Amino acid sequence: MVVSFDQPTQTWMFIALHDMTLGPAMGGCRMMVYETPEEGLRDAMRLAEGMTYKWATIGFDLGGGKSVLAVPQPVAGDEREGLFERFGALVDSLRGAYACGPDLGTTPHDMSVIGRSTEYVHGVDRSGGEPVDPGPYTALGVFCGIRAALRHVHGDDSLGGRSVLIQGAGDVGYPLGKFVADAGGKVLVSDVDGTKAATLANKTGGTVIPLDASYATHCDVYAPCAVGATLNAETIPQLQCRIVAGSANNQLAHEADADRLHERGILYAPDYVINAGGATALPLLDSGRSTPDEVRERIRRFDKILSAIFNDSAANGVSPLLGAKRAAEKVLEGGKPLR
Ligand code: NAD
Repeated sequence: MVVSFDQPTQTWMFIALHDMTLGPAMGGCRMMVYETPEEGLRDAMRLAEGMTYKWATIGFDLGGGKSVLAVPQPVAGDEREGLFERFGALVDSLRGAYACGPDLGTTPHDMSVIGRSTEYVHGVDRSGGEPVDPGPYTALGVFCGIRAALRHVHGDDSLGGRSVLIQGAGDVGYPLGKFVADAGGKVLVSDVDGTKAATLANKTGGTVIPLDASYATHCDVYAPCAVGATLNAETIPQLQCRIVAGSANNQLAHEADADRLHERGILYAPDYVINAGGATALPLLDSGRSTPDEVRERIRRFDKILSAIFNDSAANGVSPLLGAKRAAEKVLEGGKPLR
């Protein structure tokens, strides 16, 4: 852990480096108001561990890291810029051991401010200085994961005649809906923001589902693309689908919820694998190492990676969550990543 206190904004800055077996750590920078600084510290550590498994599973030579800015209250304007410049200097002092990107509470613009103090930041196209929007890349990864899940469950990955209930028509959910509709699938959408739900439904010829019916509506795939912990002891018994595959981070309220889904015969695509499209895109695009087409090609491999996880976990009688963790641990012990 790297811990620093930013006097001018009274912010605790935490950088958690979980495991650097595969390479230097990379992970987003989250900014939030926590009840106590300890909660921010714990969040950084838990999220950094998730990044270790994410990179190992999708085959990147990167380690697990994450940073948290535990602010006492929301910051804006010059105060915000100053905080991110000083945070950038802290990142820079690690000389490449950790690189950050956007996360909850931080924006691509914040990344460009961090970039004034360090080169170890992602999310800004270095040639044009424009922010890179990870949402459509994440949506592509989720769409590939949905195909892999359909094939595993039905022996056929066609979207024709299949329905996908997208919870959250935001930066990821909206382009995901378009992928589904373009492939011939039926879009069902629910969002706390009724306008967003209606816009996606209109665009795709889909149907808006009332918020209170999100879980109990019949569909082939439930795609949580809004908030975390929507899969829990209360909602899992209501689900009327065979597949859960969406982008939301920490979809499971508890690890035991993976077993609850498994016992109900519902295939779960582990969140940190299926939502890794944006994480894949940022370091490749802004460093100029890959073109957008090459990045999309790499993200399409998530289909094979998730198929391997589904097949291995079925063969071993464990949930895909446990299967993915075992696959990542093998990579960390020197094995080959899933391809
Ligand atoms: P976003 O804020 O653009 O969109 C979220 C949408 O969910 C909004 O339209 C919001 O109105 C809606 N929403 C919020 N609470 C809801 C609820 N209870 N029920 C229904 N709808 C609700 O966010 P995003 O960038 O699309 O990300 C969606 C999820 O995917 C988040 O959990 C995020 O952490 C995760 N994720 C995103 C990316 C990315 O590239 N953007 C990458 C990895 C993971």
